[in-house]
Amino acid sequence: MVFFVDVHTHLTHDDFNRDRDLVIARAKLAGLGAIVVNGLEPKSNRMILDMAKADGLIKPALGIYPLDAVCEIIPKDFPFEVRKFDVFEEVAFIRSEALAGRLAAIGECGLDGHYLGPEYLPGQEKVFEALIGVAMECNLPIIIHTRKCERRAGEILAAHGIEKVNFHCFGGRVNLAKELAEKYGWWFSIPANCTVNEGFQKMLSVLPPDQILTETDAPYLGPVKGQRNEPANVVGTVQQLAKLRGWTDEDAKKRVYDNYTRLFGIL
Ligand SMILES: [Zn+2]
Repeated sequence: MVFFVDVHTHLTHDDFNRDRDLVIARAKLAGLGAIVVNGLEPKSNRMILDMAKADGLIKPALGIYPLDAVCEIIPKDFPFEVRKFDVFEEVAFIRSEALAGRLAAIGECGLDGHYLGPEYLPGQEKVFEALIGVAMECNLPIIIHTRKCERRAGEILAAHGIEKVNFHCFGGRVNLAKELAEKYGWWFSIPANCTVNEGFQKMLSVLPPDQILTETDAPYLGPVKGQRNEPANVVGTVQQLAKLRGWTDEDAKKRVYDNYTRLFGIL
């Protein structure tokens, strides 16, 4: 069987509180075989474990979002709320779940230089490196969020020699994505707004075909601006990939699914 896959989504978000089951049912109807739900901090990480227990379609990835990684030192006047928690206690929790074989991936995690200045980078890097260590120890893929720190994130990952890496919604230059994909064999997941985003279309066109995955980052980054995104929208990304590469839709779907099984193992 060949399925569609969403390797990065936030079904834990409050926007799904009223109809989460319906959204998952729609994904199944659309032909999805895996929804990798990514955690950000203790609350979403635990919710994801519960969701995965209840439905085999949900594949749990636990992580610490780059802003949450520095929650203990984030300024009071920060534009949105970042709740404090013991970050390294959470890393230990993620490690114990990974060692118990309950996780499909580590993430999301990485570096953010958009909301935070360089003075927060050392703190973010410490947490990022700890999670790279967990992924490598447990031979799990790691899902990377990076904003304005793409090259630095690549350097850190390369220094650790980690192979199972997926950059989610890569906002750096397309040439850098291509370079990282070719040099290290890393994967890149393209969001559903690729239908209207030139940068993502270019990535679909030029990245090595065996290293392309699909994601939604739902509820964010939908194909229609202002409208809530959901996992079923990966179907449009596969169609876009087929169109740009001159493949049939079936062919594009199979290639992305094969890429998924190579990175995540058959789950
Ligand atoms: Zn995300």
